[in-house]
Amino acid sequence: MKFCTYCGKEIADEAVICLGCGCNTQKANSFTSPRATAPPQEIIIEDTEPQLATWAKICGIVSFFIGWFALGITAIVLACMSKDETNGTMCSSAKVGYVCGIVSTALSFILLIVFVAFITYLSI
Ligand SMILES: [Zn+2]
Repeated sequence: MKFCTYCGKEIADEAVICLGCGCNTQKANSFTSPRATAPPQEIIIEDTEPQLATWAKICGIVSFFIGWFALGITAIVLACMSKDETNGTMCSSAKVGYVCGIVSTALSFILLIVFVAFITYLSI
């Protein structure tokens, strides 16, 4: 919790506007924040995370719900491809996609085997 700089009312940390007086609670912070003077740095950070890595992460996470090993393998491939753009090392997004891809591919194969075994068991 933090306190409104205008009226002193207790407000949530993520609150943008004070519920007590309606003032912009982030106004005071934004003037003193060093982030406001460093937008070029943020662009550099974006450059080190290639789009392929972002797609790998999205595919990896989505593959848990739909697509299963089809999207899981896509995530692994995209993560490996993104390594070429980041000098052979995986960035955090690519790692997330890679791990999620492996886990969902493994899970979907296990489920497939269990399903096939179950069908075989029923048909005997
Ligand atoms: Zn206030």
